Amino acid sequence: MTHGIEQVVQRGMCVGCGACAVRTSGAIPVTIGRFGVYEARLDGVDPAVVRDASRVCPFSDDARNEDDLARELFPGLPTDDRIGAHLDVFAGRRTSENELVASSSGGLTSLMLTELLRGGVVDGVLHVGRSASGDQLFTYEISTTSEDVERSRKSMYSATTLADVVAEIRGDGRTYAVVGLPCFIKALRLLAHEMPGLGEQLRVYVGLVCGHLKSSFFAESLAWQAGVPPHELGRIDFRVKNPERSSGDYDYEVAARDGAEPRVRRTSSTIDGPWEYGAFQPEACNFCDDVFAESADVVFADAWLPQYKADWRGMNAVVVRDERLRELLLAARRRGEIHLEALSVDEAARSQAGGLRHRRTGLAVRLADDMRRGLSVPTKRVAPDLRVVTRRRAAVIRQRRRMSQLSLETFAIARQAGDFELYAAPMRRAIQRYRLFEAASLGLRPFARALRRRILPARRRPADQ
Ligand SMILES: Cc1cc2nc3c(=O)[nH]c(=O)nc-3n(C[C@H](O)[C@H](O)[C@H](O)COP(=O)(O)OP(=O)(O)OC[C@H]3O[C@@H](n4cnc5c(N)ncnc54)[C@H](O)[C@@H]3O)c2cc1C
Ligand code: SF4
Ligand code: SF4
Repeated sequence: MTHGIEQVVQRGMCVGCGACAVRTSGAIPVTIGRFGVYEARLDGVDPAVVRDASRVCPFSDDARNEDDLARELFPGLPTDDRIGAHLDVFAGRRTSENELVASSSGGLTSLMLTELLRGGVVDGVLHVGRSASGDQLFTYEISTTSEDVERSRKSMYSATTLADVVAEIRGDGRTYAVVGLPCFIKALRLLAHEMPGLGEQLRVYVGLVCGHLKSSFFAESLAWQAGVPPHELGRIDFRVKNPERSSGDYDYEVAARDGAEPRVRRTSSTIDGPWEYGAFQPEACNFCDDVFAESADVVFADAWLPQYKADWRGMNAVVVRDERLRELLLAARRRGEIHLEALSVDEAARSQAGGLRHRRTGLAVRLADDMRRGLSVPTKRVAPDLRVVTRRRAAVIRQRRRMSQLSLETFAIARQAGDFELYAAPMRRAIQRYRLFEAASLGLRPFARALRRRILPARRRPADQ
């Protein structure tokens, strides 16, 4: 059976991108759901309208896949099955210490956006910023000046939707660059194809490499662990660089609504900070095979490589697929504004080894698991296959998936009851089990035995991502 948008929504695989809402002029509403992720609702929608929406949904079999899109968008470019099409691959960062420290990684994403505005390539930028009003901390916004762009730097690890901002700019006669996670960029490319007027407006697609999305619970949980309960959370900065540590071992800062002094904590010291645990990851990310935003004109990542990680200030890995954008970066290097050096395709892929494992072997196992249970799954570029990993590794993959679901369900209960332990206690047990499976999968039997006896203290893991 075809896995269309109906199956996407029914199986909880909706990532909330909002493409369906844009395509149907709002006939399909996309609103924040009970687990802090945006979700589409199809009940009562005309079946013909649903079919239109299915062609722009990034998880629907009615939509073209990333390979098809890239072939059309980047003809003639060499391609790699891990990083996609590539004109050039770099490691780089801003040379100004102040600008660098105010960015997530090397600060090249915001620099690129500023250059696009300054050079008149586009009239505006659509990207996620800190929400000035409403109940969500982060929303897509429109920036038309470099000052606006610089104000919204850093990674916003929280669910958002493009539905409102795209509806707002549609038909306004202006052109835009858009920043998005790989599935959002794919959804926009599909929309641009279906809605040529909108396609004319969206001129530059800037991708962010993605490990997985976080529901809005992530911010709330980090805040709670810093002593600020969810309903009092006013602001969070997920990426505060710390000169005492490596770039992957960063802090976060939270501020309560009452204006009290912000609190800073080490991300890796929290229950859910290490990304490998998959805390608050929506189900959609379990069915994603695009790490490097393969349909974006350029994609920015953290260069999680040993030669760069030691430097706390951060470094980007960049895959460029458009000549104009490469020239903008090279021009910034000539002016001395950025440092840029060549990176090999293998190094770029290695910088995202965990994300690629999750989206390749992990995906093969999850697809096979669900198919064995008779569940509908999307057609992916990865084949369902349980033989790609050992049984012990499969146990790690399954435990991670359980942890994502557990975190969402128990946190919803905990925030309702105002009791953090209702989330933390089951999550701690699940993490312990995960580490047990992981040790066994690595053949560390004594370590696994010791863990079982609970005599080892929790190992600190870098947050990375
Ligand atoms: C959910 C998520 C998961 C990620 N996973 C990984 C990963 O696994 N590996 C990795 O190397 N990198 C990952 N990244 C990207 C990484 O965190 C940095 O965003 C990236 O390296 C760019 O850093 P920078 O210093 O160039 O960005 P900056 O110069 O600080 O600029 C960041 C820009 O991105 C925009 N932005 C931030 N968050 C979002 C968002 N959610 N949606 C759209 N626009 C946004 C901001 O508005 C700003 O314009 C992830 C990012 C997100 C949001
Ligand atoms: S993933 Fe996007 S397009 Fe698909 S149903 Fe959800 S909001 Fe709509
Ligand atoms: S992991 Fe894939 S589905 Fe999840 S947010 Fe990232 S790009 Fe989208």
